[in-house]
Amino acid sequence: MKILLTVLAALCFAAVASAQDYVPNEVYRSADGAASVEDLGEGVYLFRWWPGFYVSPFVVGDDVVLAVDPVSRDVAVLYRDAVAAVTDLPITKIVYSHDHRDHIVGADVLSPDAEVIAHPGTLASLQRRSDPDIPLPQTLVDNGDTIEISGRTVGVHYFGPNHGDSNIGLTFQTGMGSMLVFVDTLEIGIVPYRTLPDTNVHGYIATLRGASQLGVDWALGGHSGPGPGIWIDNYLNYFLDMEQALIKAEAEVVQLPSDSVEDVIAQGERYTDAVIARAVDDLRPAYGQWRGFEAWAPLNAQTVRMYIITGN
Ligand SMILES: [Zn+2]
Repeated sequence: MKILLTVLAALCFAAVASAQDYVPNEVYRSADGAASVEDLGEGVYLFRWWPGFYVSPFVVGDDVVLAVDPVSRDVAVLYRDAVAAVTDLPITKIVYSHDHRDHIVGADVLSPDAEVIAHPGTLASLQRRSDPDIPLPQTLVDNGDTIEISGRTVGVHYFGPNHGDSNIGLTFQTGMGSMLVFVDTLEIGIVPYRTLPDTNVHGYIATLRGASQLGVDWALGGHSGPGPGIWIDNYLNYFLDMEQALIKAEAEVVQLPSDSVEDVIAQGERYTDAVIARAVDDLRPAYGQWRGFEAWAPLNAQTVRMYIITGN
């Protein structure tokens, strides 16, 4: 986790050149600079925790507040203070984006009496794990549902397993246009994280296809953004191009014959390394400018190659 935070600290919030750059309207910054809030308009705000580079949106309705992902018990204190800095209204709903611990510990700190909302897969996962520090969701939502809070509506989208098997996309209407929040499934200007932890690659690609059809103006991840909605297609094309580059490299790299078990393993590893390196070389002209490409594209390719082999 610390490695993730450290690496993301170096990568996130990258300014990605585009015709539609996001211009932050910061309306709050904590005294120590660790937390801030940006106003996106139409009652939608972004809470950022800078030391760890996490971002969580919240919506201020006519008389209550809906917050996404408390992050951790310590961050939830900062999040609670940040919301209180822009509104006196109570947080009555908390949405878990997915079941991963690094985003959803601390709902009881953020707002002890809030209704917790999540996908059924998140509830099933939390029940299986019995995490003592994550309140269970009381309300379950799935694809096509909406969450209403006093004058505002949040859309819920689920296209099957992707980054985890319970990750929902949330759509918000902001003053800049529509925005899809897909925590950890989309990150703006950044290559997906390392070996794609807990990811179903087939489902991830299907999810990106589904998300692309939403036609949103903006996309937000759990660590970066917002950026133009084209980043959904950018991510989809990255995975499709990686799949094709791996298939091509697999056909081109010569695997030498082996005459012992040890030799089979050694030759196989050399072959795999060569396939990965060739595929990443193929991708570099189109994607080499994304943050983290040199460090993480080879690791992404390891997992995508396993998807090609297993089908999942
Ligand atoms: Zn995650």
